[in-house]
Amino acid sequence: MENQTNELNSPSGLGVSKQNHIATSFLDENTGDRIIRLGDVDFPPRKVWMKTYGCQMNYHDTERILAHLKNLNFSHTEDLDEASLVLFNTCAVRELANNKFYSQLGELKHLKKKKGEELVVGVGGCVAQTEGKDLVKKFKHLNFAFGPDTIDTINDMVYRTYAGDNKFSVNTWDRSSNFSIETKINHGTPQAFVNIIKGCDKYCTYCIVPYTRGRERSRKQAEIVEDVRRLVEYQGIQEVMLLGQNVNSFGKENGERISDLIMELDQINGLEILRYTTSHPYDVSDDLIAAHGEAKKLSKHLHLPVQSGSNTVLQRMNREYTKEHYLGLLEKLRKAQPEIVLSTDIICGFVNETDEEHKETLDLLEKAQFDFIYSYVYSQRSKTRAAKMEDFLTQEIRKSRLHEVQAFQLSIQEKIRSTMVGKTYRVLVEGANTMKGETKWKGRTNCNRVIHFKGPEDLNLKWHWVDVKCISTTALSCQGELLQDLGRRLQ
Ligand code: SF4
Repeated sequence: MENQTNELNSPSGLGVSKQNHIATSFLDENTGDRIIRLGDVDFPPRKVWMKTYGCQMNYHDTERILAHLKNLNFSHTEDLDEASLVLFNTCAVRELANNKFYSQLGELKHLKKKKGEELVVGVGGCVAQTEGKDLVKKFKHLNFAFGPDTIDTINDMVYRTYAGDNKFSVNTWDRSSNFSIETKINHGTPQAFVNIIKGCDKYCTYCIVPYTRGRERSRKQAEIVEDVRRLVEYQGIQEVMLLGQNVNSFGKENGERISDLIMELDQINGLEILRYTTSHPYDVSDDLIAAHGEAKKLSKHLHLPVQSGSNTVLQRMNREYTKEHYLGLLEKLRKAQPEIVLSTDIICGFVNETDEEHKETLDLLEKAQFDFIYSYVYSQRSKTRAAKMEDFLTQEIRKSRLHEVQAFQLSIQEKIRSTMVGKTYRVLVEGANTMKGETKWKGRTNCNRVIHFKGPEDLNLKWHWVDVKCISTTALSCQGELLQDLGRRLQ
């Protein structure tokens, strides 16, 4: 009995563009299950398992893919054994994530052997963009690969596979000048990622992203504001993270600015916290700095990746700013918003980094006084300009510099964190951890610090706003005591 119809076509979010089939659904007389019929392919209820590597943009893409797949009757599972569809969302930026992905994909052949054709395997993300065709050839159990710019047509690809087409790779760019989407969430939490710009025009010499995600394109400010308003009003969202590879470039092609977007979003009733990532120091403008002082809902935390404290290394990285310019930005930000908490990324041992250049990074850490840093040893990515530079540095030197950077930063962090003791913070509780038989809640402050605290045993505080007094800190953790529970909404 056919009882519903809808047309599956992109970019409405349903994700079937080429076939343009009408989807119908009916109830299976034997099982009572709702079956979706698309063309001549039936989609009974199935499970999809997904593994995501890399940045927040990838996690956001995964969320989007899962939302699309609901329209083909797929629900998400954490249990690989019960999945009919297995998808990887890959990252080409870090070697570690890359290696993990290859080993997990390799291991999957055993599950494919067990389940046979019933198991469909796809690989998406940045690795699929550059190596999709090779992957499909190399891994017999891989059905298809797709680049990051094709995620809104995931249902096309899944349909094609179930219709009998196999072993294909899709890595076309969306060449339209207009980047327009609607945010899709299906997680039921009050936090949402909202993509505002895609691609990157910066071409840092060590980075593969411009080759995997293409040129910068921004959504229109009005569309984003409506999107966020809808998320807040109808989906209970209270905290929004604006996402992009370089969010500071937002709106350039449309004559718009991220500072104006922030100020407009700041007016939305019911939205409590607004964050944005990732920032490029070159594009941090005075109007954006001013917004940090003016917007009431803008987080008092900014992650501003510096990568190195040496001007010559920054030049080799093509980062387009100097150490002095960067430190000047921090000064202006602290002036505009005295409570701001700052963090950064550091790459240790970039190509031919000298001892002197490394010391410049330690000096920058001393001067910048970051709340925390993410630090890595430089890892060469093929197809980047840095990969073509002759490199004399050994892995041992890189690792020892990483340890030095981390130890030095921890000593700075310990002092900064100790100033939190005795202060009260409003936090959104994200979950609980049990260690040595003791359960503690953990919540994130407006300035992005995580605080652990005990709560009454009979109360589930997840996604509640609470006030917590910080009672002790180490370089890496904060402990607090609960002062008051404000419930799930502040207003
Ligand atoms: S700004 Fe540089 S590091 Fe960041 S995504 Fe663009 S090219 Fe990569």
